[in-house]
Amino acid sequence: MADDATVTEEGLHGDDGLGPPDKSPRSANEATGPARAELSNYAIVNHYFDIATERLELREDIAAVLRSSYREVQVQIPIRLGDGRTHVFSGFRVQHNGARGPYKGGIRFHPEVDLDEVRALATLMTWKTAIVGVPFGGAKGGVNIPAGDLSQAELQKVARSFMDKIEKVLGPNRDIPAPDVNTNAQTMAWLMDEYGKLHGHTPACVTGKPIALEGSYGREAATGRGLIDVYREAAPALGLKPEDTRFVVQGFGNVGSWAARILQDIGGTLVGVSDATGAIRADSGIDADALHAHLAAGDPLGDFAGVDAIDADELLDIECEVFIPAALGGMLNQGNADRLRCRVVLEGANSPTTPAADEILTDRGVVVVPDVLANAGGVVVSYFEWVQNLQHFRWEEDAVNGQLRKIMRTAYREVSSRAEADGVPLRVAAYELGIERVVEASRTRGYIA
Ligand code: GLU
Repeated sequence: MADDATVTEEGLHGDDGLGPPDKSPRSANEATGPARAELSNYAIVNHYFDIATERLELREDIAAVLRSSYREVQVQIPIRLGDGRTHVFSGFRVQHNGARGPYKGGIRFHPEVDLDEVRALATLMTWKTAIVGVPFGGAKGGVNIPAGDLSQAELQKVARSFMDKIEKVLGPNRDIPAPDVNTNAQTMAWLMDEYGKLHGHTPACVTGKPIALEGSYGREAATGRGLIDVYREAAPALGLKPEDTRFVVQGFGNVGSWAARILQDIGGTLVGVSDATGAIRADSGIDADALHAHLAAGDPLGDFAGVDAIDADELLDIECEVFIPAALGGMLNQGNADRLRCRVVLEGANSPTTPAADEILTDRGVVVVPDVLANAGGVVVSYFEWVQNLQHFRWEEDAVNGQLRKIMRTAYREVSSRAEADGVPLRVAAYELGIERVVEASRTRGYIA
């Protein structure tokens, strides 16, 4: 997630970079117009989980273990802000399942963060790490701060205070945070530094760090790159050519902007983009590199030259081969899914599609490549970063990107073969595979009978 501004793994702006604070509005509703979810993220992920466990005929007592979290921590974060008053925020860390390895998942800063949402996102990480076969469990964290309104100094206070309150449940062999919405490499540097004050220098305690602080080459671009790796693998069977793909990106944060730049690099044409301030379109193409530079300089999306400014919800009507939701959860829902005019939805965000929208899209023959597969590139390169930190050895960027591609291709092949064999959509097949792997690890450990 590189740097339009502050932060974010899959946010509306952000990047893993060290850029200036992002001043734009933070709500995804403001961002991309259409009403968000008819369901909470937690209801969405449970719905998909229930479909897969029913198909797997998983015993209810085992499903009950997998539906609940191992540990849920909620802490108080009082911060004195620029107005001279102390504001009390809430921080959460949910460790969902650790059967396959240490807990792993990002930390987001967003006013809408609550325990329910963090719990849902932690669950997704459990399946995601299992689907791509990296040896981690699933976790997620968050603080309910209006990140866009805070200065860098205030964000640093929040990050350090949060780490002070949760460090006892973290560590390279316990639980390893990473960037997510509105957090970036700078946030990870503060977290690592605070952890180091208590435990000694421990770079493997967080991933997504700056290159100067033992971060990995390729980590910032990894989620966007992994999306495109998966698309390249999926395209031929759908009669699509990556080098001949028109695509739309909803949310031009780290994930959206990297995915756009990488797909453009191999010949794709970006025909529509939205961010928190509005949307633009150009049938002849929007230069993703120039747009990234424009936004990184702090200029508004609507001022970009040579494009038409449109209403955020009109983005959905643009004819294209690939639509990439890369903003917040529930952006594709019952109220708007029938408007999409694409062949493939590549889920860059976590939980962007509600069950009702998923059904509408599937009925219309649109292939939905689910979050737990499509956006797993970030955690895959987090795994590489963790490995490099444990070995105190740095890989070159080509090695990182090459290994990432291999893992994403294999994961896509495994999920699509399963989908074909079982006659189910990719999401159901991905959940089936992920759940099976977690159940197997839990059984062999002796957690479940
Ligand atoms: N926040 C990212 C995700 O949702 C990355 C997590 C990680 O690298 O641990 O997948």
